[in-house]
Amino acid sequence: MIRIDVLTLFTEMFDSPLAFSIIKRAKQNGLVEIVLSNIRDFAKDSYKKVDDKSYGGGAGMVMMCQPVLDCLEYVQKSTFAKATADKQDSRPARIILLTPQGKKFDQRLAKELAAEQRIILIAGHYEGFDERIRISAGAEEVSIGDYVLSGGELPAMVIIDAVVRLLPGALGDEDSAANDSFSDGLLEYPQYTRPEDFNGLKVPDVLLSGNHKEIEKWRKQQALEKTKKNRPDLFNKSKNSD
Ligand code: SAM
Repeated sequence: MIRIDVLTLFTEMFDSPLAFSIIKRAKQNGLVEIVLSNIRDFAKDSYKKVDDKSYGGGAGMVMMCQPVLDCLEYVQKSTFAKATADKQDSRPARIILLTPQGKKFDQRLAKELAAEQRIILIAGHYEGFDERIRISAGAEEVSIGDYVLSGGELPAMVIIDAVVRLLPGALGDEDSAANDSFSDGLLEYPQYTRPEDFNGLKVPDVLLSGNHKEIEKWRKQQALEKTKKNRPDLFNKSKNSD
């Protein structure tokens, strides 16, 4: 069982994405426990203030250290308490600060995280976090791509989804994750389903041949061609590692 904590200002945003399909099943089957904590619950003043102006000036507000770090401390303690009670792995949690300034999330990192016992994702808002949050938490910074979103909730959901589907037993067919794009450094080959002929577009003969060796060869070739066309960066990397 992996435990994933999310620290956020908007816990309600997670209701629907965590309630369907593979994540729902993984939760029901005890593969993952997802715990949402609201950073605002840890604000000290009566206005529940979690942000303030940026030192040095500039537009936008910055998330303050105290509420985020108090929330983190609370979550870490509850995580450790549970881990001890369950005699689970007592490694410290991977603490991830979601920010466009972080290293880019990819399938390799998803695999790495899926092997962890505990992950804590911290979702920001406004202009982002006071830098001392990263330093005090000893957090690694992770971005889901080179664009700026309004908050870290969607990035947290992206990471949760990518990680949970890699947990052993999360997918119906164990092979389906192994063949996914990026798992072997290439994009996946094209897929076809019924009918054999759709508006004159036919399923390639080889896929109907029943010759598994030929099918595998065709798929490998197609995966290479697709990767070369759509992601020359991945193609060159895979060529160099051959
Ligand atoms: N001022 C920040 C900057 O330029 O780097 C952007 C802040 S963004 C508007 C607010 C929050 O959304 C961030 O603190 C982060 O948690 C989240 N966020 C936005 N884009 C993201 C991305 N590409 N990856 C991960 N988190 C992101």
